[in-house]
Amino acid sequence: MDVVAALDTVRNRIADAGGDAEQIQVLAVTKGQPVECVAAAAAAGLADVGENYAQELLAKAEAVDEDVRWHFIGQLQRNKVRSLAPVVHLWQSVDRLRLGEEISHRAPGASVLVEVNLTDDPNRGGARPGFVAGLVDGLRDLGLIVDGLMAVGRQGTADDVRSGFRVVRDLADRLGLATRSMGMSDDLELAVREGSTMVRVGSALFGPRIVR
Ligand SMILES: *Cc1c(COP(=O)(O)O)cnc(C)c1O
Repeated sequence: MDVVAALDTVRNRIADAGGDAEQIQVLAVTKGQPVECVAAAAAAGLADVGENYAQELLAKAEAVDEDVRWHFIGQLQRNKVRSLAPVVHLWQSVDRLRLGEEISHRAPGASVLVEVNLTDDPNRGGARPGFVAGLVDGLRDLGLIVDGLMAVGRQGTADDVRSGFRVVRDLADRLGLATRSMGMSDDLELAVREGSTMVRVGSALFGPRIVR
């Protein structure tokens, strides 16, 4: 996969959806991809890299020489926070106060995003929209820096997907939060139309993942 060309395509898609391709951050999601993808992303100018699994992130961080910023974007157990703390730049999937407590303990003053669950399935990661404001307050009380919100798009029609992203946008506006991490390879246009500031892109940059 030619990551430079693929990134160009992603940026064009952002622009075609009405987004500012210079301003909207592209997070390179390397989960399920060989470690060489990290270097390829960095060489293409993507210094921010996202992973979903603690072990995979730590193994890749250990193996690469590139100075990338690691974002944790997957469901996170508290017992993984300690080993991740020295490495993670932005904790994108904070969805409960107990997790925030552990992060503030292991990485005081760290930057986080609150993940919003846009589905009706409580087993999905993320806080239900009605709990987000309270969680943001609680995380701030712990000394964490809440940069914004993160969400995985709904499944469904374009209208369903868009209305989910609109929930995130409205919450972020109401709470005065700058970062809206939303949009992936398949739905980034809809996220950009709803004010995404960061798209998290894996397969559109690196090709299909190795299924785990
Ligand atoms: C896997 C994943 C992505 C990237 O998915 P693609 O469809 O490959 O772009 C982004 N965000 C999260 C939370 C993910 O789990």
